[in-house]
Amino acid sequence: MPHRELGNRAIVIGSGFAGLLAGRVLSDYFKQVTIIERDTEPKEPKPRKGVPQGHHIHVLLKAGEQVLTDLFPGITGELLREGATNAVLGKDVRWHLAGNWLPPFEGGITTFFQSRPMLEHVLRSHVSRIENIDIKYGWRGVRYGLSPNGERVESLALRDIETGEESEQKADLILDASGAGTDLLKQLSAFNFPTPRESIVEPDFAYSSGFFEMPVNWQEKWKSILIYPKAPEGTRGGAFVPVEEKKLMVTAAGYCGDYPPTDIEGFLAFLKSLPEPDVFDAVSQANLIGDLHSFKFKKAVRRHFEELRLFPKGLLVMGDAVCRANPFFGQGIAAAALEAQALQRLLQEEVSDGRSDLENLAGRFFKEIAKILDVSWGMAVGEDFKYPGTKGERPGNFAITRWFKDKIMSANDPDVANQFYRVMHFVDKPTKLATPKILYRAFIKR
Ligand SMILES: Cc1cc2nc3c(=O)[nH]c(=O)nc-3n(C[C@H](O)[C@H](O)[C@H](O)COP(=O)(O)OP(=O)(O)OC[C@H]3O[C@@H](n4cnc5c(N)ncnc54)[C@H](O)[C@@H]3O)c2cc1C
Repeated sequence: MPHRELGNRAIVIGSGFAGLLAGRVLSDYFKQVTIIERDTEPKEPKPRKGVPQGHHIHVLLKAGEQVLTDLFPGITGELLREGATNAVLGKDVRWHLAGNWLPPFEGGITTFFQSRPMLEHVLRSHVSRIENIDIKYGWRGVRYGLSPNGERVESLALRDIETGEESEQKADLILDASGAGTDLLKQLSAFNFPTPRESIVEPDFAYSSGFFEMPVNWQEKWKSILIYPKAPEGTRGGAFVPVEEKKLMVTAAGYCGDYPPTDIEGFLAFLKSLPEPDVFDAVSQANLIGDLHSFKFKKAVRRHFEELRLFPKGLLVMGDAVCRANPFFGQGIAAAALEAQALQRLLQEEVSDGRSDLENLAGRFFKEIAKILDVSWGMAVGEDFKYPGTKGERPGNFAITRWFKDKIMSANDPDVANQFYRVMHFVDKPTKLATPKILYRAFIKR
């Protein structure tokens, strides 16, 4: 049951996944939640200006789906009705990783494939129906206002994108979910608050993606095929997943500046050059719909808010505004969902302890989400640093974790593959890859 006793109003900046999920959680604890979005209201599930990555494959990891189901019961049924496809990992999905196909196995996790705009559309329509949430489209959050003692953020200045008109909105809590381009660090500096240390990794890779019409006589045995490059010699990858309206979303990816083209001939030639022909063979039967789009990913950034001793009261930040890792393992939505779940847990504790003052919320929240990001960031940068040209601070344990992961990925054992998928989907902790059974199968019985 909603408590709505932690404050009169919470404001969320941004209505991407982090913003929508945070809005849903906050609506149980605040009388009113306002979500501010600079884009105009998306009327249909199409890529939009504020999230250019919407043109590219977005997988939803299992742990993210589980949080979505908790927050929006029945959502997976709705996704299926909107045309999502469910697929059993190890049976319907084929993954070429570290130079080998992961072997098929029984009892794999079931996941859902759909386009990012469609997933966002379904979430948005749920959030829009929550009675104490209003979403203000076409407004940009531009400036925080501090309390007279300079300790608490207590208002946000908004600007109407069309007219330039400004309006000041008061709130008990403001949550920045404005994505990787957040200007929060500039604002913290302007208020003389310390800014978080940033871990920066520069892998220099790019996606080119497009929607393709699934042929009427589509015979493909696999619902999705993913071919990842074998680093460091291989720089090229490609994948297709089924999405709504009987379309395929196809992505080609290139590391170390080996960018995939955005003309159809060049794109297909790029897919044909992959170490295995399967993605090319499948996609070459299908027709491109519209244009191919490119996304250059130059820089992964993790901001260590958990290390800050001083942070404005009444302010939180989550999603890509805290951490944008290389999206190759498709972790961003699941990470945002797990962060929303952590927020829900902490707010519930505030209510149960009768504190309701939100005084130390930020410090506790940042420590919780750091645990989530340690896993996702670690996995992503572990791949990036396989390329010697990747710039940034290499994790101290890189050599040993790389050796370990390569053994796991190339074990060619169904149980190891199943466990690997479960860890990659955040369903199990990475330590599950170090049980005696998995170690025996990956390292001894080869
Ligand atoms: C090429 C690519 C592929 C990816 N593939 C996957 C994948 O397969 N699976 C996966 O889980 N993740 C994937 N990701 C990551 C995923 O896109 C992000 O992690 C996720 O979108 C983060 O959500 P967010 O809400 O934090 O930020 P965003 O989705 O970026 O949303 C931020 C929102 O804030 C709005 N906004 C920004 N500034 C303001 C402001 N000042 N005022 C008002 N509104 C504002 C924006 O318009 C936008 O709506 C991929 C990313 C990229 C780049």
